[in-house]
Amino acid sequence: MSLNVKRVVTGPFQENSFIAWLDDLSSCLIIDPGDDLQKIIDCIHKRNLEPIAVVNTHAHLDHIGAIAGLKKEFGISFYLHPNEKPVLDGYARDCAFFGMTPKETPEVDFWFGKEDLSIGDFSIQLVETPGHTPGGTCLIIKNHAFTGDTIFAGSVGRTDLPGGNWETLSDSLVKAMKIIPDDNILHPGHGVDTTMAIEKKQNPFLIPLLNRVNS
Ligand SMILES: [Zn+2]
Ligand SMILES: [Zn+2]
Repeated sequence: MSLNVKRVVTGPFQENSFIAWLDDLSSCLIIDPGDDLQKIIDCIHKRNLEPIAVVNTHAHLDHIGAIAGLKKEFGISFYLHPNEKPVLDGYARDCAFFGMTPKETPEVDFWFGKEDLSIGDFSIQLVETPGHTPGGTCLIIKNHAFTGDTIFAGSVGRTDLPGGNWETLSDSLVKAMKIIPDDNILHPGHGVDTTMAIEKKQNPFLIPLLNRVNS
């Protein structure tokens, strides 16, 4: 069965929320649901999908706005890396910093453990990629990788927000390039989809790190 992915662009940061489902099955995962709750719900209803969980790459304010509403609407659980707790706890502070009104802070139901995740029919490989935030995680399902704000098409995540660190991020980028297969479709938290092969060839932040990938 292959994975279908629908991108919903939300909020002032043009954040990518993703809905992912396997062929022939109606159950779906929601990844990084940002601001526009109704837009995400409409997208799910239009395809007759049944959400079973929200799983996030990280907890920045632009990636979590719809979670509390989706939990209420569908009665589903929210999964997050434990090192994202300080980021989630800083939601109201970060919203004030960007002049935004915070929505309800979502409660985490399951903190990632050391093992990969198995939710319903979905097997999710977790690749811990701290640096943009302390608990940033890339999520690999089938031949798709949800890279959050770690890798973008042609760029990488900023490291100047609380908990960010360039040295840590560069180690994570090397790790991601080693683990995520070249043919994987990358779904970044902002901007368009790409592939690992394209980013290794064209991303100016990844190219200088390639010698560490092959060593
Ligand atoms: Zn972020
Ligand atoms: Zn973001």
